Amino acid sequence: MNGILLVLSSPSGGGKTTIARRLLERRPDVGYSVSATTRAMRTGEVHGRDYWFLTPAEFAARVEAGAFIEHARYGGHEYGTLREEVERRLEVGHHVVLDIEVQGARQVRERVPGAVLVFVLPPSGGELIRRLRGRRSESTESLRTRLRTAVEELGSVGEYDYVVVNDELEQAVSAVSAILDAESAHVARQQGLNERIDHIRQRVAAEADGLPANQQQPGGQQA
Ligand code: 5GP
Repeated sequence: MNGILLVLSSPSGGGKTTIARRLLERRPDVGYSVSATTRAMRTGEVHGRDYWFLTPAEFAARVEAGAFIEHARYGGHEYGTLREEVERRLEVGHHVVLDIEVQGARQVRERVPGAVLVFVLPPSGGELIRRLRGRRSESTESLRTRLRTAVEELGSVGEYDYVVVNDELEQAVSAVSAILDAESAHVARQQGLNERIDHIRQRVAAEADGLPANQQQPGGQQA
C-alpha cells in the first residue's frame, strides 16, 4: 500500500503540531516531515527534530536546487517542506504528516496528487486568542500579525478536504487517524485491485458455469 501525504493546517495556536506529535506516538505507520525554516530557534526546540534551522542564504540555495516540495513566507520568515524528508518516509510505506500553513498547503494540493488536506479548527475564537496569548515568545506586534493572519487563514478552510475541530485533543487525534484509515481504503488507492477482483470474478463465474442443469440445491425450493 502506498503511504499518504497528510497536510495539517490551522492558524498558529490551533493545535496542529500537538495533534501531529500525538498521531506519531499512536501510529508507527506515520512519519513526520521536519520542515526547514529561517526563523530563530525557540527555547526547547531541537535542530533536526522541530525544524532544520537554516540561514536565509542556506534556505535560498535549497530553493534554487529544487529541494522543496513547497515553501512559503510566514511571519517574516521562510518555511519549506524538503522533498527528501517526505520521500524517504513514503518509500518505506509510511504515511507522512506535514504541519504547514495555508499557502504551502495550496502548493501541495497542486503538486502532489492524492495528498489529503485537513484543516484543524480551534473550538472558538476566544480559545484561539487564549492559546496565542499563552505563547510567551510572542511580542505584541507579532501577536497582532498572527491574529490577523489567523483571520485570513480561516477563510481558506473550503480549500481543504476535511475539517477537524480541536476541542478535546485525543478526540481530534482519533479523527485525523480515522481520516488516514478511510483514505487508505479508498478504491483509487488500491494497487492491484482490478487483478484481484478479476481473479475472484473468474473463480465465481467458473463455479456458476460448472453447475449441472436442474440440480436442486440442499435447502433450495422445488421449482
Ligand atoms: P512556527 O514558527 O510557529 O513554528 O510556525 C509558523 C507557521 O509555519 C505554522 O503555521 C506552521 O504550520 C508553518 N510551517 C511550518 N513548517 C512549514 C513548512 O515547511 N511549510 C510551510 N508552508 N509552512 C510551515
